[in-house]
Amino acid sequence: DGIVHPEQKPLDDEHELSLRPRSMGEFLGQKQMKENLSVFIEAAKKRNESLDHLFLIGPPGLGKTTLAQVVAHELGSEFKVTSAPALDKPKDLAGILTTVTAKTVFFIDEIHRLKPAIEEMLYIAMEDYELDWIIGQGPSARTIRIPIQPFTLVGATTKAGNVSSPLISRFGITCRFSFYDEKDMEAIVRRSSGILKVQIDDDAAALLARSARGTPRVVNRLLRRIRDFAQIRNSPVISSEVVAEGLKRLEIDSLGLERHDREILRIIIERYNGGPVGAETLAISIGESVDTLEDYYEPYLIQAGLIQRTPRGRVVTALAYEHLNLKPGNDAGL
Ligand code: ADP
Repeated sequence: DGIVHPEQKPLDDEHELSLRPRSMGEFLGQKQMKENLSVFIEAAKKRNESLDHLFLIGPPGLGKTTLAQVVAHELGSEFKVTSAPALDKPKDLAGILTTVTAKTVFFIDEIHRLKPAIEEMLYIAMEDYELDWIIGQGPSARTIRIPIQPFTLVGATTKAGNVSSPLISRFGITCRFSFYDEKDMEAIVRRSSGILKVQIDDDAAALLARSARGTPRVVNRLLRRIRDFAQIRNSPVISSEVVAEGLKRLEIDSLGLERHDREILRIIIERYNGGPVGAETLAISIGESVDTLEDYYEPYLIQAGLIQRTPRGRVVTALAYEHLNLKPGNDAGL
């Protein structure tokens, strides 16, 4: 399947461990966010306190997990990680929170998917560093409060709109990730090729950086695939020809779109006359869940100026017609 598809994440992350930046210096791009965060980290360290709870928002693959780890590293703190779907019962959360030490960085991915009972427990943990625990059953049941160590919660989400306001209000710091610009993407290509010990020409690095939808995870995956192509061709250096050929084989076009992205645009144009079409209808048409459509495909299509969200649904832009070589109107590609 494609390079961006969510189901490839776990496998890929094992592979990517060595490419994952550890310190703030290795974490490239997102300059403003990094500068502010560094100040907050220094200040917390000077006061010898735990860092305020941190809320990370942004599309997949932009470095939310990485940043959480970097923060732990910079604080010299322990790092614990889980994701909201893995927290099934309150005892799953309590099990982790009773073992955190002071200043632990506790990362919860997909925090918009917390169950209500767990979210309630988290409110008190974040605010008072205590756990509400019910012992006994029926009329004799009572709640006791268990103190826990002052930790830092880092909550990450691709969908800030789905996070409840009581939860949002308990985060002291919010970081919004944006797609990386070409210069930062190039720096990431260079860093990753250095670690993987592959040589890459300047124009090849630039082409790769432009074709990876402003997403570090995507550029690292592409680099590994292109390295394979170079190896088969016996090219010791990755040239722009090797990159161009690799991209062609992977069906990635000049805007960094994959086949599936182009299919989404094509479906809106051909079946819905360019839109508007509602997210649910569109998701069914492309055979994906609304979540996958909204989290993985749409953000970049919107950023690239190919799709717009309107109150009545998704609409393709003139650029999308141009990119696919189709004409607006009833004859659109049919
Ligand atoms: P997210 O949690 O937002 O889905 P990750 O933190 O897992 O994204 O990042 C995916 C991969 O991209 C990481 O393993 C790392 O190799 C790379 N990466 C992310 N952010 C950066 C960055 N700022 N600089 C360099 N590499 C990065």
